[in-house]
Amino acid sequence: MRYAILGDIHGNLAAFQTVLRDIDIRGGFDKIWCLGDVVGYGPDPHECIELLRQYEHLCVAGNHDWAAIGNIDTLDFNPDAAQACRWTGQRLAEEDIDYLQSLSLILCEEDFTLVHGSPREPLWEYILSIEAAQDSFAYFGTAFCLVGHSHAPLVFECIDDVIVYKEFADGADLQLGENRLIINPGGVGQPRDGDPRASYAVYDTGTRVVYHRRVEYDIEATQKRMEEQGLPPRLILRLGYGW
Ligand code: ZN
Repeated sequence: MRYAILGDIHGNLAAFQTVLRDIDIRGGFDKIWCLGDVVGYGPDPHECIELLRQYEHLCVAGNHDWAAIGNIDTLDFNPDAAQACRWTGQRLAEEDIDYLQSLSLILCEEDFTLVHGSPREPLWEYILSIEAAQDSFAYFGTAFCLVGHSHAPLVFECIDDVIVYKEFADGADLQLGENRLIINPGGVGQPRDGDPRASYAVYDTGTRVVYHRRVEYDIEATQKRMEEQGLPPRLILRLGYGW
C-alpha cells in the first residue's frame, strides 16, 4: 500500500495536479493522506476539493478549511490571509462546505496519526522547535505523527526520550524503525522553506520508507489565476520565493 502524504494544498490546483502526476510516474499511490488546509490563499479552492475527493483519501481539517466555512474567525489571520479567506468562502459550492464541515481534527491509520497543526492543538500549533516537538509526543498514541501547517519539511525523532531534529531534504528516504517520529512533508501549494517547488511525501508500507520529493510546477499559472481573481499581491509574490 502506498500513501501520498499531502499537506497545505491551499487552493493551488496547478501544484496539486503536478504533485499527483509526479507521484504517478514514480510508482503511483493507492490513497491520499491529506494534512489539511486544502483551501485558503490559492485561486482554485473548489477545484482542489473536487480533485481530492476523486481519490480514496483521509483528510483532517486545517485552520484555513475551518475559517473558510466560518467555524473559526479570522481575527488571528494577517489581513492578506483574512481577505483570501473571505474570497475562498464565497467560491465554495454547497458540497464543498459540507465536505469541509465533515473533516475531523485528528485521524489515525496504520501506525500514523494525521493532524494539521499538532496533536496537542490540531488547528493552530506549529511544530517547528525541539520544545514543541517534545511536548507533542505525549499527545499521540501511534508510533508516527504526520503534521502540516508550517509548510516546512522536517522530521523530529524521539531517541530514548531525547528529541532530535532531522532534515527532510529533497530526495530523502526515511526508513521507519523503532523510534517514534513527527514528520512534516512540507507544503504542496505554498512552500515556505525558501524553495518554491511543491513538497510532498509518499509512504510505502512494503518497504516502510517515507520518501520526500520536491517538484517544480507552473507557479506563473497559479499567480496569473490569483491576479485575475484580485487576490492580495503579497500572496501572489510569495509563491515565487517559497516563503
Ligand atoms: Zn497552511
